Amino acid sequence: MRFVFSDVQLRHAPPQFLQRGRPVPCPETAERARMLLGGIERRGGRVEAPPSFGSGPRAAVHAPEYLAFLETAWERWRALPGSSDTVIPNVHRNTDTAEYPGHIVGQAGWHMADTSCPIAEGTWEAACAAADGAVHAAMLVAGGEVPAAYALCRPPGHHASADMAGGFCYLNNVAIAVQAALPALGARGRPMRAAILDVDVHHGNGTQAIFYEREDVLVVSVHADPAQFYPYFAGYAHERGRGRGRGYNLNLPLPIGTEEDRFLDAVAEACAHVARFAPELFAVSLGFDTYGGDPLAAFRVTTPGFARLGRLLAAQKLPTVLIQEGGYATAALADNLDSFLEGFGA
Ligand code: ZN
Repeated sequence: MRFVFSDVQLRHAPPQFLQRGRPVPCPETAERARMLLGGIERRGGRVEAPPSFGSGPRAAVHAPEYLAFLETAWERWRALPGSSDTVIPNVHRNTDTAEYPGHIVGQAGWHMADTSCPIAEGTWEAACAAADGAVHAAMLVAGGEVPAAYALCRPPGHHASADMAGGFCYLNNVAIAVQAALPALGARGRPMRAAILDVDVHHGNGTQAIFYEREDVLVVSVHADPAQFYPYFAGYAHERGRGRGRGYNLNLPLPIGTEEDRFLDAVAEACAHVARFAPELFAVSLGFDTYGGDPLAAFRVTTPGFARLGRLLAAQKLPTVLIQEGGYATAALADNLDSFLEGFGA
């Protein structure tokens, strides 16, 4: 197992976001990364910084105007009279008629799905470094150097779509990694295929949207029922893909309060679906916010339960890239990653 992380990712540190209309401290902190590094160290692992892959992998997934917005938003926002020190939208894209705006306030409304993806100084650099880490880890696996690699991505990525940030996510790390790695998998007589399994407590709506019309990337997500939980607008069981992608998206929503055994049963069902697809690359969006002690308190997975999760995923015996997503019980993150890695056999 190789572990990938860059200190540049610590530069993203927005002080607050708006939750139910109130400014509250951002739970997606740099401290999360430090705790996860502690979990890696306990397994005797050492992290390596990724190289810069340039703009290509990002541009293969995200819209050019969105990338330009992310790169310039903070400075343009700060230049406005009376602006705050983080970009949080106060207008929203009209769903009936909408013209792409030139003004930074309009663009913030266009490209930010909610108020929980504040852009601060350093956000762009950190998001790029996280995405490069995901690409590096995926390339190590796709190139056959190692059977599995873990990218300590933060900020996380699975809520970011091609042109929209949301839920603490800016660049979709797992999508960028998979898209970059597919050609590196080598010719096997048919188009290369990847499966993404998202076990974060939230539906990976950005990932789903990016691959919704693709038959070469299967997306499966186990998550809290969006009828009751973020991201609300997607993640329902009837969403199965569109066009050529029809049948290559699977959502397994579970009720709020789901216990560990039921969660792991759903993950096993998801893994069986992945096995039938027989991908060349298995990418896991790994969230620890299913933990019973998470402040979101949606599911009740225990620390030993993450070892069971790790065993389930390792039993697929597929080249696997693990991409860190959420998990906000910061003090428990080292224990939970340590437990997961032990189960995975890292
Ligand atoms: Zn999450």
